[in-house]
Amino acid sequence: MCGIIGIYGNPEAATLVYLGLYAQQHRGQEGAGIVSYDGERVHRHMGQGLVADVYADPNTLKGLAGEMAIGHTRYSTTGGIDAKNVGPLLFNVEDTPVSIAHNGNLVNLSARRRQLQKEGAIFQTTTDTEIIVHLMARATGERMADRVAPALEQVEGAYSLIILTPEGLIAARDPFGWRPFVLGRLGEAWVAASETCALDLIGAEVLRDVEPGEVLLINDDGLQTICNLPKATPRHCIFEYIYFSRPDSRIYGANVDKLRRKLGKTLAEEAPAPTADIVISVPDSSNTATLGYASRSGIKHEIGLIRNHYVGRSFIRPEQEMRNLTVKLKFNTVKGVLAGREVVIVDDSIVRGTTMRNLVRLLRQAEVSKVHVRVSSPPIRHPCRFGLDFPTEEELIANHRTKEQIEAYLGVDSLTYLSLEGMLASMDQPPDHFCTACFSGEYPLTLLEGCGKNVFEQPRQK
Ligand code: AMP
Repeated sequence: MCGIIGIYGNPEAATLVYLGLYAQQHRGQEGAGIVSYDGERVHRHMGQGLVADVYADPNTLKGLAGEMAIGHTRYSTTGGIDAKNVGPLLFNVEDTPVSIAHNGNLVNLSARRRQLQKEGAIFQTTTDTEIIVHLMARATGERMADRVAPALEQVEGAYSLIILTPEGLIAARDPFGWRPFVLGRLGEAWVAASETCALDLIGAEVLRDVEPGEVLLINDDGLQTICNLPKATPRHCIFEYIYFSRPDSRIYGANVDKLRRKLGKTLAEEAPAPTADIVISVPDSSNTATLGYASRSGIKHEIGLIRNHYVGRSFIRPEQEMRNLTVKLKFNTVKGVLAGREVVIVDDSIVRGTTMRNLVRLLRQAEVSKVHVRVSSPPIRHPCRFGLDFPTEEELIANHRTKEQIEAYLGVDSLTYLSLEGMLASMDQPPDHFCTACFSGEYPLTLLEGCGKNVFEQPRQK
């Protein structure tokens, strides 16, 4: 997963992009980058780590001159945690600078990459994104913008893209609309970003989504749809509503907060805990679903876990040993709230089970009388190939254990997941408008390459 943003037509473009990346930090914490264009030259600054660290020196932003800029926060799903993979990537196509920021994951690429290499392409990175630029370089068309659709017709998978060229910004979204992508205006300037929370921060007005399959160009003439790729039934990633997007964002035409509460309410109906004294969340990601659970169940909502906000998302930390430590660094219990109580703890998802197992240990140390785990999504049994860094099937706790085995592993008195039907019924759109592959194993595209393997035959730097 990644966060992307582009600004066209504001002298402070790079600063606005920086703020937009700040708002979208939750979408990627491995690295951040900004590329700007001042009418003559391209400027670029990127680095590994958090946005605030990469741009800690105020002079850095001043050097990113120009009225158009794009930015990227990276969370690697293809290509590994390597400095050269931090976006936006920058290339010269026939002496024209082309910079690209990508949220999503392309699939079935090995053969295409090998073929391009045989034709002489020299890849600079191990990202899937770079393939799009090689295909643009081989396409024909007067403008760079005209080469985008022919390139995208040759790839499959999830992409929300912002491309910076001297002729303007190009935005494109895959025909399934897998990842969120929104357009807005800030005075005379144009904004495209992964989530509306980025537009809110810079004071931009939300206009509409970049439509699934739409390729558009933003320049001094305004915004123009250049083409629409062949239509498909939307397959929005449902996990964006469950976990990934911020609750203050509006994605796929609905407020994340509203649907996340609905998930919690449906969970309360499906999985009551009638003898429980209190319900607590795993801050911050399950706060909203917990509000839904508490309101529908009538169980008193308490704050039983305090999160240290200065520690990154534990899931993203690579080594298992390190992950255990980060859970403790990240959460502590409020003992006065928990001691002697029968507690429902709501989490949005269980992936490997590390977070919940450690949290249950902490709750036991705080002397709760019972722990009931309620999860506002179904069991995750299959890796995501479209942009979420879910581990291999073997690492997914729900893939190879029964409910009873998971309860024993977590050390809980009861565990209930939301059903697939309950999850889909909580949505505003028809069930077939969502990709549910991580839960159902039904991948909307035929995957020719093995799940969980690096597409480019290089060991993941995990
Ligand atoms: P785990 O400890 O592996 O079971 O991870 C579950 C926790 O990670 C949950 O509390 C989620 O809020 C969070 N989470 C779920 N999916 C992701 C993801 N793709 N990236 C980062 N964190 C996640």
